[in-house]
Amino acid sequence: MKFSELIIPTLREAPADAEVASHILLVRGGFIRRLASGSYNWLPLGLRVLKNIERIVREELDRAGAQEILMPVVQPAELWRESGRWDVMGPELLRLTDRHDREYCVSPTQEEVVTDLFRRVTTSYRQLPCNLYHIQTKFRDEIRPRFGLMRAREFIMKDGYSFHLDEESFEATYAAMHACYAAILARMGLDYRAVDADPGSIGDGESHEFHVLAESGEDEIAYSLTSDYAANVEKAEAAALPGDGSVQPILRTHTPGAKTIEAVAGFLDVDTTRCVKTLIVQADSEDPGLVALVLRGDHQLNEAKAGRVEGIRRPLEFASQAEIEAALGVGIGSIGPVGLALPIVADSSAAAMPSFVCGANVDDYHYIGANWQRDVADNVRVVDIRNVVEGDPAPDGSGPLKFLRGIEVGHIFKLGTKYSDAMGVTIRDASGRDIVPIMGCYGFGVSRMVAAVVEQCHDGDGIVWPDAVAPFDVHVVALNNTKSTDVQTVADRLHHDLQAAGLAVLFDDRDERPGVKFADADLIGIPNRITVGDRGLREGIVEYRRRSESVVQKLSPDAVIGALARTA
Ligand code: ATP
Ligand code: MG
Repeated sequence: MKFSELIIPTLREAPADAEVASHILLVRGGFIRRLASGSYNWLPLGLRVLKNIERIVREELDRAGAQEILMPVVQPAELWRESGRWDVMGPELLRLTDRHDREYCVSPTQEEVVTDLFRRVTTSYRQLPCNLYHIQTKFRDEIRPRFGLMRAREFIMKDGYSFHLDEESFEATYAAMHACYAAILARMGLDYRAVDADPGSIGDGESHEFHVLAESGEDEIAYSLTSDYAANVEKAEAAALPGDGSVQPILRTHTPGAKTIEAVAGFLDVDTTRCVKTLIVQADSEDPGLVALVLRGDHQLNEAKAGRVEGIRRPLEFASQAEIEAALGVGIGSIGPVGLALPIVADSSAAAMPSFVCGANVDDYHYIGANWQRDVADNVRVVDIRNVVEGDPAPDGSGPLKFLRGIEVGHIFKLGTKYSDAMGVTIRDASGRDIVPIMGCYGFGVSRMVAAVVEQCHDGDGIVWPDAVAPFDVHVVALNNTKSTDVQTVADRLHHDLQAAGLAVLFDDRDERPGVKFADADLIGIPNRITVGDRGLREGIVEYRRRSESVVQKLSPDAVIGALARTA
């Protein structure tokens, strides 16, 4: 295809709102253009990449036995009421009303619709297992749409759902989908990890995420240096670290103005690992109203873990300064477990400390040498509520843990019977028993994937597309073609012959300076580049270069066709 006939609006400058490489390069390279916050137009180059990713996803899913269908984007509210999610979903769900005042939502996911479809179309247990998927637009009114395609409001997802008579059948399909996602990512040539994940609000069971590794990733992954263990940091179980030191006598001390752990540790000249911090959150009932969470000073609270502790409101909600002062008569910086009249949930590493510094529940006072057994009432439960940190042992006993950043492109879940139960789905099995089918759910971010590829595959000059997803296979750059008939003739012939050999060719036939053409070629990132210029033609050669390599090969036009045709 001729560059001059396509809309490829490349830009020299990065858009003002772009923070990450994929957003900058996809806009600069003329792949996408923003319509509104978190929504993008796909231009010809971008759409070609998107379609390539869709094709790979489709081929691998079909090979794994999944069936493609297509479900509507606008969904009736009744189905969401049936599952109970109409009221549970917050403002991320875009709701609308039609001319008859009937309520709908724009699909953020499809469990309700697919479960409804399944109950209408399956009549016999012989139709199970049944694994359905579609590739469709989703809308989520994300609180912070950002990073271009990575966290959009309108995006394209492959979502799949499976139905099973028993666990064994579910496990087999789950394993097949796990392998299928690995195959998709391997075909794209990406460095990725599959990790244990938190199922969030979608399911309660096991779940795995697939992450494309990239520094700009929003997620942090913990993996063991000595075993296969890998998990999202949100989910990774933290070991109870042994506490340092010995039991000390307790002493109350004045700590004027020291409100944070760092300030207290600095003031008392102790390490933050010898201090505990106490956070106050909402309980799930009026009595006791509030709950105290205690962590070692250098550890961070894991809100998902804390939200799952019995008696704590889910999702986790911190108490306000005013609520704390009303309940405890002390400011946030001076709270501690000694003499605290609230239920206490201590992280297992905080609970293992033989003596610690903590707030004295009097403004500007702290205890030194506090001890759980001697000084704290027996209102303490010991639970894992912290984020793992690098260097921790892994929960399988191996380690130490190291961290990597990743972009979540896929997430597979075990749904159990959450939706089939709520929506009253049953299938009569061979022995006449009514079975509530077990469900699995398999999401893949097709449009996010475009950005994830760019995050992993770019350099200072632009994108370096892997062959499998590149918008074109070959970029023919003709230098001074509007002045040189030789160049125009050879470039035209290459364009034609390479296409005839089954390659997708972008032919830069524009009347532009060589510098502009090279800069655009680097930016757009097509994997193979052929440069046709007068100087080379006088020697009977054209220049061939891989975008990912700096070596330039001088080949005759026929040899270049032969070399590239072999890779097609
Ligand atoms: P995240 O934690 O990133 O919000 P999620 O857990 O909400 O993701 P799922 O509901 O599992 O995501 O959706 C399946 C896939 O859809 C994700 O793995 C991701 O690739 C993609 N996806 C989710 N939200 C977005 C978004 N706002 N923009 C683009 N892709 C998205
Ligand atoms: Mg989300």
